[in-house]
Amino acid sequence: MIEIFSSPRLKQLLPVYRSFIQEEIISQEMRLLSMPFKEAAVVLDDLRAKAKAFGLWTPFLPESNGSPALPLPAFAQLSEWMARTPFGHYVFNCQAPDIGNMELLDRHASSFQRLTFLQPLEHGQIRSCFSMTEPGRAGSNPLLMDTTAVEDGDEWVINGHKWFTTAADGAQFAVVMAITDPAAPPYERASLIIVPIDTPGFNLVRNIPVMGEAGEGYHSHGEIRYTNCRVPKHHLIGVRGSGFRLAQERLGPGRIHHCMRWIGIAERALDLMCSRAVSRNLGKDRLADRDTVRHWIAESRASIDAARYYVLHVAHQIEEEDARSARDGISAIKFHVAKVMHEVLDRSIQVHGALGLTEDTPLSYWYRHERGARIYDGPDEVHKSSLARSILKKYEPEQ
Ligand SMILES: Cc1cc2nc3c(=O)[nH]c(=O)nc-3n(C[C@H](O)[C@H](O)[C@H](O)COP(=O)(O)OP(=O)(O)OC[C@H]3O[C@@H](n4cnc5c(N)ncnc54)[C@H](O)[C@@H]3O)c2cc1C
Repeated sequence: MIEIFSSPRLKQLLPVYRSFIQEEIISQEMRLLSMPFKEAAVVLDDLRAKAKAFGLWTPFLPESNGSPALPLPAFAQLSEWMARTPFGHYVFNCQAPDIGNMELLDRHASSFQRLTFLQPLEHGQIRSCFSMTEPGRAGSNPLLMDTTAVEDGDEWVINGHKWFTTAADGAQFAVVMAITDPAAPPYERASLIIVPIDTPGFNLVRNIPVMGEAGEGYHSHGEIRYTNCRVPKHHLIGVRGSGFRLAQERLGPGRIHHCMRWIGIAERALDLMCSRAVSRNLGKDRLADRDTVRHWIAESRASIDAARYYVLHVAHQIEEEDARSARDGISAIKFHVAKVMHEVLDRSIQVHGALGLTEDTPLSYWYRHERGARIYDGPDEVHKSSLARSILKKYEPEQ
């Protein structure tokens, strides 16, 4: 596998993460996958405590000793390793949607919000969620939103209906996107507001079953009703009307995180595919001796490595410039890497035969959990249209 080291700090960190992931997490992975969620949560809490004690906690944030956060391309490479197992990101407190909320609050929280919401989140004492999408409106166009937050004295009064609020079950607060200024220009109408889930009027209607799984805790996708839900005005993040801008700012690096996670999953799926191919005897020869399987392995290797370079290139561009200037690249990797991951997962399952469909490998888990990759944070079609629009802008009709 090709490795790209971008800094001495990363060079030093990568092997530490790798061995922790291999020895502490992957070694327990199948046991964890087969446990009821609440039992697994206890084991995971122990692993989280251990990761923290080893100094492997939230590497995407500045350190308490004042050391700066890892640059995005460096964190991306750690993130790829974390993704080798379904539990990696959670063990290091790098799981979505908390990672996006931590980055958002780190940049824009008031001192009250830092103390009350960000610090406990950073320490892994609480979890959070991000509540934007609504069942009655096309989430692909976030301008279409019915949830409102109306000022009343010192409070915001929030009313609305959201769904697919990932990890709402057991979270301590939601970052809610709501229309605060309906008469403003379209991209200045919404704001982000923190709503503690014990606020009267916050009602988690259900954990939406997805792909045959009920979904609990940080695996849940919540349907939520906000009914005259009152929070203090100082729960507004940043300035009023900045909701779309902040959501976009949150989503740019977020897409890098997702893409590197998908590359890690594809890498593990390829690893499992190769192991199975050399182990499975077909009578006269092994699966690994068949050209079809060899081609799948070669194609997977090439597409994963190409995808990794592309993602790191875009991560570098975000780091050096900003998410806005990297917009085309972000769109391209979002749909391209999701496709690469799906192809590799699918091939790996095929090589495993019936075993690939069972819960005896992590492949079926990922096949279910990662189908959403082509939908969340902008469906494939939206990113393709946006990229093509940008490319075509440079062309004039021939005379
Ligand atoms: C696993 C998962 C986790 C999620 N987590 C969260 C979360 O934590 N918080 C949150 O707020 N939301 C979350 N979402 C919601 C997600 O952001 C939305 O599903 C997404 O924005 C698409 O919106 P929609 O589902 O309403 O699809 P729609 O907007 O109804 O679109 C349906 C389909 O239409 C097609 N389409 C849409 N627009 C276009 C276009 N312009 N051109 C061509 N085709 C188009 C696409 O194929 C698309 O899949 C999550 C979704 C999933 C699946």
